[in-house]
Amino acid sequence: MRIVFLDRDGVINQEKNYLYKIEDFIFIDGVFDACRQFQELGFKIIIVTNQSGIARGYYNADDFDKLNIWVLAQFKQQGVDILDVFYCPHTPEDDCECRKPKPGMLLSAQKKHNIAMQNSWMIGDKENDISAANKAGIKNTILVRSGHKINEKKSKAQFILNSISQSKTIIL
Ligand SMILES: [Mg+2]
Ligand SMILES: [Zn+2]
Repeated sequence: MRIVFLDRDGVINQEKNYLYKIEDFIFIDGVFDACRQFQELGFKIIIVTNQSGIARGYYNADDFDKLNIWVLAQFKQQGVDILDVFYCPHTPEDDCECRKPKPGMLLSAQKKHNIAMQNSWMIGDKENDISAANKAGIKNTILVRSGHKINEKKSKAQFILNSISQSKTIIL
């Protein structure tokens, strides 16, 4: 199985700190169209997202789940099936194995779904997304410009794009 792994905040929706409310969730233009193309190419789609707002107490796992169910329903309505969602609820200080740039969520996904990592992609908006992918054996990576500071010269990403909507020209 080949996967396009998507970070959530900044890739699927406009970046907003510690987002958990449906009314604050704004899909990036072209995200559904891009995902439909991935599907047509035979990719499945998995979301991998750091959610330290949970450990920090800004919202809880139920809040995350509620938003997540709504997000998946919106994708479904647009003809996109999200195969799975992995999230890390920890802070950097927790030193867990799942928080990107560690590859834990990607490796769990690989085990669960028997994924061919060398034929898969990662789309993220932070260098941490790219690092996690590389550590998990994914060399096909796209960094999108969401407003996070990125050092484009030092980035290990294979491609740097303005948004996921342009990934249609890369993942063919
Ligand atoms: Mg992000
Ligand atoms: Zn974690």
